[in-house]
Amino acid sequence: MLGLMQDWPLLCHRIIEHAAKYHGTQEVVTRSVEGPIHRTNYAEIHARALKVSQRLERDGIKLGDRVATIAWNTWRHLEVWYGIMGIGAICHTINPRLFPDQIAWIINHAQDRVVMVDITFVPVLEKIAASLPSVERYIVLTDKAHMPQTTLKNAVAYEDWIAEADGKFQWNNFDENTAAAMCYTSGTTGDPKGVLYSHRSNVLHALLANSKDALGTSAADTMLPVVPLFHANSWGIAFSAPSMGTKLVMPGPKLDGASVYELLDTEKVTFTAGVPTVWLMLLNHMAAGHLKLPHLRMVVCGGSAMPRSMIKSFVDMGVEVRHAWGMTEMSPLGTLATLKPPFDTLEGEARLDILQTQGYPPYGVQMKITDDAGKELPWDGKTFGRLKVSGPAIAKAYFRVDTDILDDEGYFDTGDVATIDAHGYMRITDRSKDVIKSGGEWISSIDLENLAVGHPAVAEAAVIGIHHPKWDERPLLIVQLKAGQKATREDILKYMDGKIAKWWMPDDVAFVEGIPHTATGKILKTALRDQFKAYSFP
Ligand code: ADP
Repeated sequence: MLGLMQDWPLLCHRIIEHAAKYHGTQEVVTRSVEGPIHRTNYAEIHARALKVSQRLERDGIKLGDRVATIAWNTWRHLEVWYGIMGIGAICHTINPRLFPDQIAWIINHAQDRVVMVDITFVPVLEKIAASLPSVERYIVLTDKAHMPQTTLKNAVAYEDWIAEADGKFQWNNFDENTAAAMCYTSGTTGDPKGVLYSHRSNVLHALLANSKDALGTSAADTMLPVVPLFHANSWGIAFSAPSMGTKLVMPGPKLDGASVYELLDTEKVTFTAGVPTVWLMLLNHMAAGHLKLPHLRMVVCGGSAMPRSMIKSFVDMGVEVRHAWGMTEMSPLGTLATLKPPFDTLEGEARLDILQTQGYPPYGVQMKITDDAGKELPWDGKTFGRLKVSGPAIAKAYFRVDTDILDDEGYFDTGDVATIDAHGYMRITDRSKDVIKSGGEWISSIDLENLAVGHPAVAEAAVIGIHHPKWDERPLLIVQLKAGQKATREDILKYMDGKIAKWWMPDDVAFVEGIPHTATGKILKTALRDQFKAYSFP
C-alpha cells in the first residue's frame, strides 16, 4: 500500500555492521586457545568478518552452503560466524563434546563443505576425517606459529587464509528468510536433529533477548557468555551483545571455576550466562578462597533447572539471578524468571519461590500446556501438562526431515512437562520421558533433585522412576556425595521429609561415584536407567 514503511530485511550481518559503526572501539576480550589474553574490538571483528566472506567466496562457498565450526568462544569464532552468514552461507556450530561418531554423523547429514576448527579439536577430526566426503577443506583457527602438523585435507592456518583477502568486500541484501545458522540437538535418543535458524529468526530473537526483562544488557555492560556459541547460539548473546554494543569477554577453552572467576574479576564483568554446572564450579572456587565479585550484577542460568541453594548463594552475594528456560529449537530463549510487580518487592523464601520458576516468556514466545489428547489445561500453578510453544524464532521442522512437528494450532511440543500459574510463570516439572508416574499421578523428578542437592553433603542428585508392582513407578534418588563428605540414606530422606508431599518421597537412595552427563551438561537419565535396570526396591 502506498505510504508503507521501508522493506528492510532483517539480516544477521547488519548487527556486526551496526556494532562496528556505533560501538567500533568497544572491546572483545578473549582467553585465547593458545593461552594469552587477546584484545580486539567490534570494528576489527567486522573488518575481519568481511575478509572471511571474501575468502570463502574465493573457495567457492555460496548462498545455502554449510560451513561448520568446532570451536570455543573466541573472537575468531565471532569473525567466522558473521563472515559465513554475511554471504548467505550457513554457520553450522558443532558441539565438540559429542562422541566422534555423532560429530561425523552430523557433518555428513549437514553436508558441510568447510570445517573451521580450533587446535584443540584437530585430533578428534583427524580420526573421523576419512568418513567425511563432503568436507573440502579444514581451516584451523590459529596462526602460523601455532599451526599443528595435521593430516586434515587442505588444512590451512586461519590467519594465513584470511591474509589472502584484502577486505574490500561488501555484504549484500538478500531475503531475510534465508537460512543463517544451524545447530543439532544432542539426540540422547535417536539421531541428532538439525535446527535451521533464518536471518529473520536470529534478528528477532536478538531483539527479544535485548529486553530489560530478558538478557537486557546495554553498551555500559560487560558480558561473559560461558555458554558456548555451539550451544544454541550462546543463547543469542553473539547477536544481542553486538547489537547493544556490549563489551564481550570470551572464555575460550577454560571453563573451570578458577579461570571463569579470574576473567569475571579482572574484566569487571557485570553480566554472565551459563549452565548450573559452571556456576557450581564458580561458587565452590569462590567459597574456598573467600572471594568476591563486586562488579557482577546478573547471572543468567539455564539449560537445566537451577537449584534453589545456588539461587540463594548468588542472591546472598547481592547478585541478581535470572533463571532461563529454552531449547535449541527455540533459538533458544523461551522464558525468564524476572520479578515483575507485585513480586519484585517479595523477600526471603517467597522471593526465591519466584526466582526458582522458569519464568514467563518475552514478547515473541507464546506457550500453552495440554493433556496427552491436546486439550488445553488451566494456568493454576498446579496442573501439569505438556508444554507447547509458538513464535517467529521457534522451529517448524527439522533440517532434511519431512515430518510435521507442529500441532493443529502451530505449536511445537517441547517434550517438557510444566505448570503455569495465573501470572504466566511457568515451572518445568520434568521432561515428558522422565516424569515419574505413580498410581496415575505425576511426580516431578526435577523437584526432588533440586531438593536433594540442598543437603550440604550432596554434590549432585538424579531421580529416576523404578517399576513398582503396586504404584506402577516410584522414585529412586541417586546421589553423588561431595568429596570427603558423608551422609546415609536416612540422613538424606530426613532432610527431604516435610519439604514435599509424603507420596513424593523417594522409596530409596542409591549412592554413586559420578552422575553421567550429556554433551550439553544435562543428567543423562538413559544411562542411569541402564545402570539401575536390575534394581528393585527393598
Ligand atoms: P540439548 O542440550 O539436548 O542439545 P537443549 O539445550 O535444546 O538441547 O535442551 C533443551 C531442554 O533443556 C529443555 O527442553 C528442558 O528440558 C531443559 N532445560 C533448559 N533450561 C531449563 C531450565 N531452566 N530448567 C529445567 N530444564 C531446562
